[in-house]
Amino acid sequence: MDAETLRDLDRRHLWHPYAPASAEAPAHPVVRADGVRLTLADGRELVDGMSSWWAAIHGYNHPRLNAAVSDQLDDMAHVMFGGLTHEPAVRLARRLAEMTGLDRVFLADSGSVAVEVAIKMAIQCTGRSRLLTVKGGYHGDTFGAMAVCDPVNGMHHLFTGVLAQHVFADRPPGGYGFHPGPPGGYGSRPGDSAASVVDEAYLDHLAGLVARHAGELAAIIVEPVVQGAGGMRFYHPAYLRRLRELADEHGLLLIADEIATGFGRTGEMFGCDHAGIRPDIMCLGKALTGGYLTMAATLCTSEVAERIGVLMHGPTFMGNPLAAAVAEASLALLEERPWRDEVRRIEAGLVEGLAGAARAPGVSDVRVLGAIGVIETKHPVDTSKIQDIVMEHGVWLRPFGHLLYTMPPYTTGPDDLARITEAMTAAAATLSA
Ligand SMILES: *Cc1c(COP(=O)(O)O)cnc(C)c1O
Repeated sequence: MDAETLRDLDRRHLWHPYAPASAEAPAHPVVRADGVRLTLADGRELVDGMSSWWAAIHGYNHPRLNAAVSDQLDDMAHVMFGGLTHEPAVRLARRLAEMTGLDRVFLADSGSVAVEVAIKMAIQCTGRSRLLTVKGGYHGDTFGAMAVCDPVNGMHHLFTGVLAQHVFADRPPGGYGFHPGPPGGYGSRPGDSAASVVDEAYLDHLAGLVARHAGELAAIIVEPVVQGAGGMRFYHPAYLRRLRELADEHGLLLIADEIATGFGRTGEMFGCDHAGIRPDIMCLGKALTGGYLTMAATLCTSEVAERIGVLMHGPTFMGNPLAAAVAEASLALLEERPWRDEVRRIEAGLVEGLAGAARAPGVSDVRVLGAIGVIETKHPVDTSKIQDIVMEHGVWLRPFGHLLYTMPPYTTGPDDLARITEAMTAAAATLSA
């Protein structure tokens, strides 16, 4: 099909994420993805600054990951997981347990489902049904997950009367990570001592809220250190540590939604590692399969598993062998690669490359943590207009709301990274104060 036909049929028949049935800005047909580049049907090549939403950490068309899928395809594409098991799932579960210290693994088919499963685990384990979370979060689009998303960003008003009513703490104060640019050059950085930036009043707010609701709460659920799709904000690990303490004091479970933060993105293997804590339940997804196939996981401690007994969940495509095989290969690859150095190099490149954007009149903040670079704007951005500008620079990004941001594959080289930050800086320069 030629590009024009693709675009026409797409507009006639398909939904896209968070878009009306016939969007004004048509989607761009992609014909190939290789390394860190996307090739469009019109021949244009774009450096991918999105990793297909945090997922493609090793880049596209990776020989090891391709081989994992095709080798597994020769054996079996799928079998039911009820009463049957197979090596790809077993290997993946063993590796995840080793990486996290959480022994029991539920393989789900998307991040949202992993969050649903985590909520069910917490309810079945404690016999209580409310959750405590923080404003500004994002945990997925299914109903259980939506109910713990930010009440405003998460569009709770569209689903009034349907969503479970949970307890929301204020959004954690920002300030963690690097804040490149004037005045005064660098701001706080990962590794700064906690005392310099921790807001004691916020710690008290958390403690008060947990104490007030402890009797009805099953669990606390948060994205560790980085609030992703809810606003790309970084908060101090001290707040996460306090939530761990409060959960212990009051007999609640702590659920870490590491779907965006997992597997090195923030500079540590998991977001919880910044705080040196272990959750009772952890959700993984996005980068789990290196961006190849849809799979997520909900992990818990043996103790939680024992208290649950029969966990009431079981998707048709649970433990899909193709996805499990490529996930295992992606994690093996990650452990072999110098991912820490790669992420640190990207972090340094983002700090340097985005510093100039902090001077633009339409920009309210620039922040970097690990392989995440964010320009926050004073007014909501016109997504397709900004996208046109970055595409002219040969870059693929997907700005939304007040955010122009990148989380590139860890394999992105210095020149391609510079191209991404130049595109972002150029786009930011066009925004009005
Ligand atoms: C993306 C995301 C989800 C939802 O995952 P899907 O695979 O899109 O369902 C949940 N939690 C967090 C933190 C996410 O970033």
